[in-house]
Amino acid sequence: MLVSMPVRKEGRSWVYCPICTHTVEAPVIWVGKKAMVKPGEKCPRCKALLDAGRVLRDRAAAA
Ligand SMILES: [Zn+2]
Repeated sequence: MLVSMPVRKEGRSWVYCPICTHTVEAPVIWVGKKAMVKPGEKCPRCKALLDAGRVLRDRAAAA
């Protein structure tokens, strides 16, 4: 058996939106230890695509 695909996990996390400079909750995809915004997701505040947003770590959101 061959295992080559990294583990992909979907979840929700805090994403910093550079357009409206707010932190919003959005669906993210985890690939290994790296999280990225699910493609095509939009900011609930300003409706901009969150592809360029930064995913923040859950526990660092309050820091
Ligand atoms: Zn926004």
